[in-house]
Amino acid sequence: MKALVLTGVKHLEIQDIKKPEVKPDEVLVNNKYAGICGTDYALYNGLPGSADAVPPIVLGHENAGVVAAVGSNVQNFKVGDRVTVDPNVYCEKCRYCRTGRPELCDNLSAVGVTRNGGLEQFFTAPEKVVYHLPDNVALKDAATSEPISCAVHGMHLLDIEPYQKALVIGDGFMGLIFAELLKSYGVKSVDLTGRHDDKLAKEKKIIGLNKTINTTKEKIPADYDVVIEAVGQPKTQEQATEATVKGAQVLMFGVGKPNQTFSMNTYEIFKKQLTIKGAFINPDSFESSISLQQSGDVNVDPIINNVISLEQVESVLNGTSNLKGKCVVKIDD
Ligand SMILES: [Zn+2]
Ligand SMILES: [Zn+2]
Repeated sequence: MKALVLTGVKHLEIQDIKKPEVKPDEVLVNNKYAGICGTDYALYNGLPGSADAVPPIVLGHENAGVVAAVGSNVQNFKVGDRVTVDPNVYCEKCRYCRTGRPELCDNLSAVGVTRNGGLEQFFTAPEKVVYHLPDNVALKDAATSEPISCAVHGMHLLDIEPYQKALVIGDGFMGLIFAELLKSYGVKSVDLTGRHDDKLAKEKKIIGLNKTINTTKEKIPADYDVVIEAVGQPKTQEQATEATVKGAQVLMFGVGKPNQTFSMNTYEIFKKQLTIKGAFINPDSFESSISLQQSGDVNVDPIINNVISLEQVESVLNGTSNLKGKCVVKIDD
């Protein structure tokens, strides 16, 4: 079968490899679509994602496909079922797993990071991380169930109330998902920052935003009860903490470089009684991710910008392609 193998740092190769066999507790997925995200960019460049990827490995942790075989102990899936897969597999034995915080697991394994993922025709996953898809959710869109689930986990960490004014910093794919989520959670208003008027105008219409702010021209007012930072640069992290009113919550969702720091006025943390939180991966969030797509509260179709081939993936990860925005790879017919 055809697979895109990460053979070393900054080196991907299309190879013909053996189709994997299912273990008793596993499901074999004939993958149809795989999303590409910042984690893949990090892994391609030799940086850690949610865990370290050791080549040779097949990336692809955002997947949707059809069940091709099931192991002897599998109970809830059969050949032909349409599925998506939570990539993260927790050990259930370490102190984090045993204290209700499995996302912090010391022995995390992940489909497309530590074990072969979806940038190939067939991959296996334990039954416990496989999820059925409703008929009205397209496989292409379902390939983004994982990033949506990470945003849902971020929402779980916040106290959301109807009176709140919310701001999302950054109009990349994750920023737009958060804007949709905040709307569906029923906050008073959702504003979004970006850097291009035409792009922001489109997003305002698609998502139904209260207001957009082009940060190349306008200063962000210190006006918000909830701020989601979805870029991951020091400048935008500073903007996030400064955009707050008293009692505000800031979610630092954007992934910075491993040695990155940002500065902030620490007196303001005290005076405004700020809460600043991080969010890592996606525990207990996949069912909600799928439900939000089924109801249409989160609609990714208009914000998936490119459907590409396996052959195009390397140019996206090494920056030589001029494709902008979210890419989903079509794997198999
Ligand atoms: Zn991802
Ligand atoms: Zn664990």
